[in-house]
Amino acid sequence: MELNENARIDTSQVDDRRGGGGGGGLGIPIQIGGGRGGIVGIAIAVLVALVGGGLGLNVMTGDDEPRGDNTSLEQRCAAEDALDQLDCRNTLYVNSIQAYWRTALPQALGEPYRPTRTVFFSQAVNTACGAADSGVGPFYCPADSLVYIDLTFYRVLAQQLGASGEFAQPYVLAHEYGHHVQNLLGTNEQVRRQQQRDPGNANDLSVRLELQADCYAGAWAKNATGTADGSGQKIFKSITERDIAEAIDTAEKIGDDAISKRANRPVNPNEFTHGSSADRKRWFSRGYSTGNPAACDTFRGSI
Ligand SMILES: [Zn+2]
Repeated sequence: MELNENARIDTSQVDDRRGGGGGGGLGIPIQIGGGRGGIVGIAIAVLVALVGGGLGLNVMTGDDEPRGDNTSLEQRCAAEDALDQLDCRNTLYVNSIQAYWRTALPQALGEPYRPTRTVFFSQAVNTACGAADSGVGPFYCPADSLVYIDLTFYRVLAQQLGASGEFAQPYVLAHEYGHHVQNLLGTNEQVRRQQQRDPGNANDLSVRLELQADCYAGAWAKNATGTADGSGQKIFKSITERDIAEAIDTAEKIGDDAISKRANRPVNPNEFTHGSSADRKRWFSRGYSTGNPAACDTFRGSI
């Protein structure tokens, strides 16, 4: 993967709430495995399945949320070595993902896209879905329609889950934006209602929601080299087969069964909330091979 050093990094799409001017997200290591975190501690976006009660699109408050201080981020991302900075690269990934959906959502699914910000935080953050700490991993909050990430999560991903490829990062963000797309389409609200009517199937429904977000991430990956900044400069110079393999590898490493095994817990498919490694791999690949979000109907038939 090569990013285009001439692409302008649009920092207005992120909200830097790390305090102290950030600095690339080198903070306190995230504790995972056992204790408070456990399985939830490394499940990506588990909150999306657990929250959102009664909060629909009509009360989206993303634009009203208090903003952090982007001053330092802006300066560093305008500098020549911006692409050496983890937070600037991640901002550019967000730019690419949203540029994709601005075109793809109306085209493929007939819904206008509404951009939303990614909040960079360190250790803990207050959201419209409640307070969260880094242990939950990156997540999307439907109630304020914001993506939240402590960038130190990538170290956990690399060191503790063994997914060290750079392309794991845009994959994670694209998965979270997949949840935003589901929010815009009303999918997660439908799922939430169905879970209330049919609690016995709540986990299966959660898995289907997660696999769809993986599939949407794959659709973005297929089209990412076509995305451009506000002035038409391409964001990526190239994305290779190896990058895609890294994304698939990440999807595999964060499958519920893989996480259970790492935590030395019994693997119980009835308790899966995100899907098995094989399922996550397959649905990301489905999105990637078709390049079409309309091919991401995970709710029909067997998973
Ligand atoms: Zn998710």
